[in-house]
Amino acid sequence: MARVSLALVPTAFVRKRGAWLRFRSGRILDVMTHTSVTAYAAPAPKAPLERTTIPRRELGAHDILIEIKYAGICHSDIHQVDNGWGEGIFPMVPGHEIAGVVAAVGSEVTRHQVGDRVGVGCMVDSCRECDNCKAGFEQHCTGTGPVMTYNATGRDGEPTYGGYSTHIVVTEDFAVRIPEGIALDVTAPLLCAGITVYSPLARWGAAPGKKVAVVGLGGLGHMAVQIARAKGAEVTVLSQSLRKKEDGLKLGASDYRATSDPATFEELANSFDLIINTVSADLDLGAYLGLLRTNGTLVQVGAPEQPLRTSPFALIQNNRAMAGSSIGGIPETQEMLDFCAAHGIGAQIEVIPAEEINDAYRRVQASDVRYRFVIDVSTM
Ligand SMILES: [Zn+2]
Ligand SMILES: [Zn+2]
Repeated sequence: MARVSLALVPTAFVRKRGAWLRFRSGRILDVMTHTSVTAYAAPAPKAPLERTTIPRRELGAHDILIEIKYAGICHSDIHQVDNGWGEGIFPMVPGHEIAGVVAAVGSEVTRHQVGDRVGVGCMVDSCRECDNCKAGFEQHCTGTGPVMTYNATGRDGEPTYGGYSTHIVVTEDFAVRIPEGIALDVTAPLLCAGITVYSPLARWGAAPGKKVAVVGLGGLGHMAVQIARAKGAEVTVLSQSLRKKEDGLKLGASDYRATSDPATFEELANSFDLIINTVSADLDLGAYLGLLRTNGTLVQVGAPEQPLRTSPFALIQNNRAMAGSSIGGIPETQEMLDFCAAHGIGAQIEVIPAEEINDAYRRVQASDVRYRFVIDVSTM
């Protein structure tokens, strides 16, 4: 597919005989076939990603074509390329932190226009009819289940391919508007990392007068600190070491403690209203629950491979609660983007060209990133 540059925002697309004709001022600029676009894919489990072409579906009446500008690298991309959850669909094009510009719209699209800045996160569809979908919790769709952005099968029976790609076709309802005033590159990671922590912070009421602890200062944690602070809460980072203390304080934390120091758990006992655990490692959960004050809640968003274990007394004392949270629905994802734009919040990123994706994967696995890699899709 020909690249659609922002400087050449088209005035019209017309589909003819399996191709899109791009018009400007009534003249055909070029012909774009709908069948293949450039992407980076893992051909097999654990294989390095390589440049390839993938099919994108024909633009349906309610579909939009997005020219992807930036795609974030999420830790779960690596996990899925490694086939960590099994049953992966290969070749696999990861990427569920997508920021781009609408390049074409289907005949009945009303939510977006050509030239609009839009994002796509972890889901590209759902049944739309179940109670959860109707309530805006598409991530918990009980009908078909949510259709994940990649490594899934769409409702048309075709595999879904993610954002490490020049373009994506998605139903208009699963693209969110990116407000003006926030750059596309720092916005991309908000579509997964941002909403994953925004949702529990909103649901459990991070606000002035509340003390929130964020466990782990990585891709998720660095967003949680910024969002909790912007919501007015007093934020403490609990990290293995004090290595990133300066960053944590700059991002808005008022305290930063090392969890390798046992004194941390004594000094901060019974002090937090809410703890967001972003860590995927096996932690001594009971020790963290002990940091919650009466009626406090620990929300798990990291996903360790081992079952979570704790003494029931860690919960019984102080009426503590433990909960989980999975991304957010489309309405809340829009709310999160609007909130982040209004508060000038974006991800801290390192932009890389597409050819460095495999190096970036190695560095993510070595925790050598502050705090998110974002692929500049124009380098594809
Ligand atoms: Zn993710
Ligand atoms: Zn549903």
